[in-house]
Amino acid sequence: MSINTKKSIGQQMHSLMEELFPITRSITGEGVRNTLKRLKEIHPNLEIKEIPSGSRCFDWIVPKEWKIEEAFIEEVETSKRIVDFKNNNLHVVNYSVGVDKIVDFEELKKHLHYREDLPDAIPYVTSYYKPYWGFCLSYNQFKELNPKSRYRVYIKAEHFDGVLNYGELIIPGASEKEIFFSTYICHPSLANDNLSGPVLATFLAKFVKNLPKRRYTYRFIFIPETIGSICYLSKNLETLKRNVVAGFVLTCLGDEGDFSYLPSRQGNTLADRVALNLLNHEVGKFKRYSYLDRGSDERQYCWPGVDLPVCLVMKSKFGEYKEYHTSLDNLEFVTPKGLEESYNFYTKLIEVLENNRTYKVTTLGEPQLGRRNLYHSISHLGRSGFTKLLVDFLVYCDGERDLVEIADILGVSAYRLLEVVKVAKKYQLIEEVS
Ligand code: ZN
Repeated sequence: MSINTKKSIGQQMHSLMEELFPITRSITGEGVRNTLKRLKEIHPNLEIKEIPSGSRCFDWIVPKEWKIEEAFIEEVETSKRIVDFKNNNLHVVNYSVGVDKIVDFEELKKHLHYREDLPDAIPYVTSYYKPYWGFCLSYNQFKELNPKSRYRVYIKAEHFDGVLNYGELIIPGASEKEIFFSTYICHPSLANDNLSGPVLATFLAKFVKNLPKRRYTYRFIFIPETIGSICYLSKNLETLKRNVVAGFVLTCLGDEGDFSYLPSRQGNTLADRVALNLLNHEVGKFKRYSYLDRGSDERQYCWPGVDLPVCLVMKSKFGEYKEYHTSLDNLEFVTPKGLEESYNFYTKLIEVLENNRTYKVTTLGEPQLGRRNLYHSISHLGRSGFTKLLVDFLVYCDGERDLVEIADILGVSAYRLLEVVKVAKKYQLIEEVS
């Protein structure tokens, strides 16, 4: 008897997430570099790039690096540690300035963040662009504080001129035209938002590398959110505008909730059309949002004048699940099953994009299928099944409509239609229009 001990794709993805989870990430600093270094072990051609602090990128200035070593709140009278960064890196407001002083409860309270509605959760709070120090704790921890006590607040952190890092992985294809995936690497110990994004990107890059042939070039970028996409665009805008045919921001892809779709600003790009076709016909149930619900790097990619064809297909959308931006968005909330569902969706999407061409029929009038033995060889269902789909497909191969558009007209999955294309090509019933 053989026992299959091979891990599923979902389990492999989850294992990588477990490794990356404890790293203290921020928009800059050692945590980002260590995350990128780990990903570079998997994809040696991932380039780790840097932009110096203080550089101007469009309307923004690259922030200083942040380094944190230690942080805690201690009750002075008892020397009892109330919260300690060592136990959870969410306990400190991300990018906090350093502090070391004794404060009363009223003063302390002004620097504490908790969620009364989620009494066990430590919230994730950032202060990137305003100097501030603060701590995050569960409401249950907060309730234990004694209003009469004095507290020592200690954060050993510094900001200094360094660099902003990001990762870029380019996998060349036959064409310079590109499929673009952007994901971010700035959240500390948080799973769905955001580690599911870089983990899926890493596995999709493996999938792309293993394709027997690639029509498109693939660009995967791992950046800090917002400032990273602005920096990246400021350096690569012309290339991206010239080459990207479809792009996706990868985030919130590992829970077991329904899929969600957030369109590009234009709403009808190739990225949107493929995403929607597969959501409708390969997924079925999904939540549809508007561009007004945007929140991640699509804000930059779809900005007027940038106008890249970028949309999002997520599981539970950021801001829409209760665990979002708290310590409850953890390795239990994200599961191998949830990750694998996203992987399966995006690998189908890549296959459809690779094969999305415009075709023209080769006959005037319906081809005589019987003469080609097509009724017998492709389907025992006769015209009611596969053959009907084949002829319906041919009807719209007018040299104008691409595969996805025809799939939408027929009300079928573009992924399923790939089988029909294969047969139509084999029997030379269609030819590609360049
Ligand atoms: Zn977030």
